Amino acid sequence: MLPPDDPWTMALSQFDQAADHLSLNRGMRERLRRPYREFTVRFPVQMDDGAVQVFTGYRILHNGALGPTKGGTRYSPEVRVSEVRALAMWMTWKCALNHLPYGGAKGGVTCDPSALSEGELERLSRRYATEISLVVGPHQDIPAPDVGTDDEIMAWFMDTYSMHLGYAIPTTVTGKPIMLGGSAGRLEATGRGVMIAAREAARRRGVPLSGARVVVQGSGNVGGVAARLLRAQGCTIVAMSDVRGGVHNPRGVDPSAVLRHLRDAGTLRGFPGADWVSNAELLELPCDILVPAAIEGQITRANAARIKAHVIVEGANGPTTPDADEILAARNVMVIPDILANAGGVIVSYFEWVQDLQAYFWTEEEINANLERLMVHSFDRVAEFSRSQRVSMRTGAVIFAVKRVAEALETRGVYP
Ligand code: NAD
Repeated sequence: MLPPDDPWTMALSQFDQAADHLSLNRGMRERLRRPYREFTVRFPVQMDDGAVQVFTGYRILHNGALGPTKGGTRYSPEVRVSEVRALAMWMTWKCALNHLPYGGAKGGVTCDPSALSEGELERLSRRYATEISLVVGPHQDIPAPDVGTDDEIMAWFMDTYSMHLGYAIPTTVTGKPIMLGGSAGRLEATGRGVMIAAREAARRRGVPLSGARVVVQGSGNVGGVAARLLRAQGCTIVAMSDVRGGVHNPRGVDPSAVLRHLRDAGTLRGFPGADWVSNAELLELPCDILVPAAIEGQITRANAARIKAHVIVEGANGPTTPDADEILAARNVMVIPDILANAGGVIVSYFEWVQDLQAYFWTEEEINANLERLMVHSFDRVAEFSRSQRVSMRTGAVIFAVKRVAEALETRGVYP
């Protein structure tokens, strides 16, 4: 029995609510409630000291009704099957909600990438890519980066897959370096999408984004970029954190300086002119907009009543538990759900895949303009749908997505 804050329990609870709302029949619930393919791999890696260590990894394909499956790859000591399963289900809903021709998947390896040398990381990545090559491929399942992985690791994935077939196949993964067929704008895409979602939320609430006080949890690809772009919109970034804790100054910090300090010192500690706060304290700081951009299960029944923000923009996947959602809704806190707020990453991954398939590349201006158009369109769709159904934006977004995938399954029929 998984605890209520486990990501898989959360994902099932969100799905069941949508399925009830749509009165899905039993067969359809069974098809959507569980991943259709789950792949667990255990593989050896030669460590620098000569020892052989065995790692466990996963690639889970939740649903492929709308197209090849798509989803990131996580390297973290916390990676476990229930987490990867939930992240795969959320990818199905995210792609469907944003009208991308993809199903949902996710992968991960239980490891601490910060404790591995560059050589160990490369050997682990190439062996994991080889193990999962049985299920991935440009028209089957397309990985991308997530927590603990980056464009360099995607380059090793792409090279490994290509070496097995004997020629370069850039469509294997997205989030690659630009020189290997990566897309302009991909590195910033998720954070840019978070900024667009925050801007649209402020517009709907009738409050200016400029001058808003923002707290960002997580200073990685999503949180770091979101903080920088929100500051460029005139927001005051009052706090930022990483896994160890955060820095807080009610008058604001410069995200670029914070990220520079983190890169140079390897920690946020000692950042000048700011107080040290724990991640738990950071979430409850006075602010207008809270951007959880680290991991799941951060806003729970235990702290939801003390969150000061009026708007929560979910940069991370699954940062808010269903219990917390109820408390926040009762307090009229607007939650922009993950499958909408952080969709910028998979949207530009889709652009990357399309460019690689056509071997024709767009400019960063074209990418950003198309991202802006799709994000605003999705935001309006979810806001209108949720209003018409009298449900929260999360429930509206999940209902909308589940309905699309269920209709696709229904239309395709049951084989044989
Ligand atoms: P990242 O590895 O670049 O950064 C993660 C950040 O979170 C780091 O600052 C890390 O120190 C911090 N962190 C890790 N564990 C933490 C913990 N237990 N408590 C507090 N902070 C912690 O990862 P990312 O790509 O920025 O992803 C962050 C979130 O956004 C994840 O939930 C991921 O699934 C989601 N997401 C990422 C993308 C993408 O394109 N990278 C797209 C959509 C959603």
